[in-house]
Amino acid sequence: MKGGRMSAPGRRKPRFRDAWRTWGTYRCRVAVAALAVAALLAGCGGGTRESGPAPERRVVVLGFDGVDPDFIDRWVDDLPHIKKLIADGAFRRLETTVPAASCTAWSSFSTGLDAGGHGIFDFLYRDPKTYLPDRTGAVSQKAEYLFGLFRTKPETFDTTMSGEPFWKLVDRAGLRSVVLRVPCIFPLEEMEAGRLQAGLGAPDIRGTEGTFHFYTSKLSPRQAADPGLGGKVISIGRGPEIETIIEGPANPLAEEHERLVTTLRATVAGPDSLEITIGDSTQTVRVDQWSDWFRMSFDVTPFSSIDGIARVRVISTQPDIEFYLSPVSHDPSDPAIRVTEPWELSQEFHATVGDHKTVGWNHETWGLNEERIDEDAFMEDVFDTMRKTEEITFHELDSKAAELFVSVFVETDRTSHMMYRLIDPDHPGYDPELAATHGDAILRTYLRMDEIIGKVMSRLEEGDTLLILSDHGFHSWRRGFNVNTWLVQEGYMTLKGGAAHTAKKFLLDVDWSKTRAYALGVGAIYLNMRGREGKGTVSPGAEARALATEIAEKLKMLRDPASGELVVEEVYKAEETWSGERMSEAQDLQLGLASGYRVSSATPLGGAPKGLFEDNLKKWSGDHATSRTSATEGILLSNRTIREADVAIVDLAPTILQLLGIEVPASYVGKALTLGPGKVTGSME
Ligand SMILES: [Zn+2]
Repeated sequence: MKGGRMSAPGRRKPRFRDAWRTWGTYRCRVAVAALAVAALLAGCGGGTRESGPAPERRVVVLGFDGVDPDFIDRWVDDLPHIKKLIADGAFRRLETTVPAASCTAWSSFSTGLDAGGHGIFDFLYRDPKTYLPDRTGAVSQKAEYLFGLFRTKPETFDTTMSGEPFWKLVDRAGLRSVVLRVPCIFPLEEMEAGRLQAGLGAPDIRGTEGTFHFYTSKLSPRQAADPGLGGKVISIGRGPEIETIIEGPANPLAEEHERLVTTLRATVAGPDSLEITIGDSTQTVRVDQWSDWFRMSFDVTPFSSIDGIARVRVISTQPDIEFYLSPVSHDPSDPAIRVTEPWELSQEFHATVGDHKTVGWNHETWGLNEERIDEDAFMEDVFDTMRKTEEITFHELDSKAAELFVSVFVETDRTSHMMYRLIDPDHPGYDPELAATHGDAILRTYLRMDEIIGKVMSRLEEGDTLLILSDHGFHSWRRGFNVNTWLVQEGYMTLKGGAAHTAKKFLLDVDWSKTRAYALGVGAIYLNMRGREGKGTVSPGAEARALATEIAEKLKMLRDPASGELVVEEVYKAEETWSGERMSEAQDLQLGLASGYRVSSATPLGGAPKGLFEDNLKKWSGDHATSRTSATEGILLSNRTIREADVAIVDLAPTILQLLGIEVPASYVGKALTLGPGKVTGSME
């Protein structure tokens, strides 16, 4: 039974239908388990929606995360479609948010609010009573099971973001929208006439941003320590036959934390290949090649499983056996969490483009950063993933009539993070040999972006508005700044026993009775405020303001002894930077560092290691999140001219609503831009 479930735009459907959409797949699973005939009666199957009449006007928005205007300037002659937009339409540097971090910026794009309004001040927030950090974004609510056998309610999520994405207003106005992978907007909104795909924020099957498995016979079980970030290292025998496990999701029925596992078998199949079996599928995988997708099931009960997909990369077969399993995505053909709205859209995408990652952080950055895969493996996967995203984008753009179309690509950000060291000879990780072979990785990603833009331009019709944006720009990250160590050195923080530094994270060694300020997250500094923090020492009001000013002024004079350069270009004070209902959660100060610097990797989790500065020798070599906002602009391109010279990411939501004839909420902090006529329609001639 297919089709017919979508109503015309603007017509409100009865409430039970929303419930059906949410739980339909689950009811089907229960029904299938109980009786196949019942499943047919229950009306299981993919949901196709009528596309309805062609829209009178269309706003097409393409997002490319982290595209830097300086790179556009540098490579513009290689980017013919962007060049045409610059010539015939508009190109602006787009003011980003404070901080210039993706989740803050995309939340502002979506809600029209600054961080004081939407509450996403960082990728972390802290509990001021305990000083412990937690991730912003989605908070999981466990799945429910009937008699411990049948899943009756899937795992759901609550968001920590306030405000409402502008496409909800479009939906309420009776217009249709397609919104694909806008970062950090998860869980997805329920829509009357919208098709949404989750981006960054949608977890992998383990409930994380993405956790790889690395299997190695080089290390004993005792030696096989997990890296700090994003992976599991598992010791295996030398073969020829190996049986090991994949650690999947937490068992939703277990009282204690316990992970469901499935079996992985590997056999040496030749001098440069392994035969790998996961579930029902066996593939021979050669060294330095990605496998096809493996499907795997993690059984919760005899009637209910959580299913995933992942790929294998064989690193070596001799003398040691080493292979990598990518983070396991929820199976797009039968996801256990809502990765699309409506739920069944994921099955439609799967039927159209086949297996594709549903995890929001969908690139192998952790594997490369921990040096478990190489640059080739990383870049091949980047372009494979980008192609799937492109296929879904054009499947939607070509086949579904919608007044609003938004699709976001993140590859431009991920290659810039990982490969910046190969275009910056001053970077401590610069490797001339690798630069000769992979120094064009960021450019190649920009070339693919330009191709996609060209394909979208060729589909524009008279009256369509094309807006292309990035959320922030990029900088080399050569040196890390240990902010807490500086606070200790300057007497604002005291460690237990009067130590100058500590190996502990999470501020565990801090003597709070003698501490006035602490750093957590990407460039955030909080005062240890009385009445707000658990063991506050600083009185709110005049004392706090004076202290904030003193710290800011001292930081702005700080020089890196290695180069003599000033490190901190700007310190943003909360009350001068943001406004809105979430201001009580804001950091008191936010750093805006000079190009080349980022807070050290120990700082976000409250570490205070030895030394104020350190060379960044990690593959994650470009960054933006603690850079000065006014030096980290994104881009805005349009097929229409734009009257305003100064434009900001918070201007996008009001501009889009105004283009669609929808009243702009008074709470929005940006302005609707004035667009001239569109010159660029049709393909390049
Ligand atoms: Zn980024």
